[in-house]
Amino acid sequence: MHRSEGGHIDCNAIGNNRYICRGFKNIRNAEALDNKEHMISFGKDWSGKVIKSDAFAGNINNGSIPSISNRFADIHIHTDQSPPSSGDIYGFIDEVIIDSNYIRYVATPNGLMYALILTNKQSAINFNLKYPRRPGITVQNADGSSIKYQPTFPQILVDEFDQIKGWGGASKELATAFLLAKYNTGVALLKEDDDGSFRRLITKETKDRNGNKIYTAYNCE
Ligand SMILES: [Zn+2]
Repeated sequence: MHRSEGGHIDCNAIGNNRYICRGFKNIRNAEALDNKEHMISFGKDWSGKVIKSDAFAGNINNGSIPSISNRFADIHIHTDQSPPSSGDIYGFIDEVIIDSNYIRYVATPNGLMYALILTNKQSAINFNLKYPRRPGITVQNADGSSIKYQPTFPQILVDEFDQIKGWGGASKELATAFLLAKYNTGVALLKEDDDGSFRRLITKETKDRNGNKIYTAYNCE
C-alpha cells in the first residue's frame, strides 16, 4: 500500500497486493462510520479471479468469517492501533490446519497492516494442543444484546505477555512476535513497510546490566 500524507491510499501501485488494499479501503470506511471491527474474505471465482465478500461488522471469531468460494485470505480492521490479538492467532490456526496457505491480514485505522502466515503446520497443531485457547467471555448489554469476545491465550501466556509489555517495556507487536517464536507456534507475524512489502517481525530478548530483560526488534534483511 502506498500511503501519502493525509491518509490517501493508492491501490494501483502495489501489484499483487491490490486486492488487500481495496478490501482495506472498504473496511476502513466502514470502521470510520460505526467504530466497530469489520472484516472481508477473499476467494476466487471459477476463472481464478480474486473476489471479495461484503464487509461484515463485529468481533472476529471463527464463526463470523464471511463465506466466499475458494476462500484463501481474510482481512479485518481493529478500532485502535493494536496488532493481531491472541484470538486472531487461534482463529488463524484453525484456518491453516485446513489450508496451509491461508493468510490473515489485520489492519488499523491509521493504515498499519499486519499479516499472519504459517511457517510450520505441525508446530501450529502442537501449540494449539499444548496451549489451548481460553474461550472468550460473553457480556450481556443492558438492551438485551450481548457481545461475545474472542478467545485468549491461556493464563500463563497472558501473564508473560503482560510482563514483556510491563517490565520489559515492549510494544504489543514486539511482545506478540516474541511469544509466537518462543512457544514455537509455527506462525509468523509480518508487518507491511512503507514500500508495500511485508517483513517478518522478530523480537530479540537481551538483558541490561542489572539483569532486567529488554526486548528489541531484530531487523533482518
Ligand atoms: Zn483482530
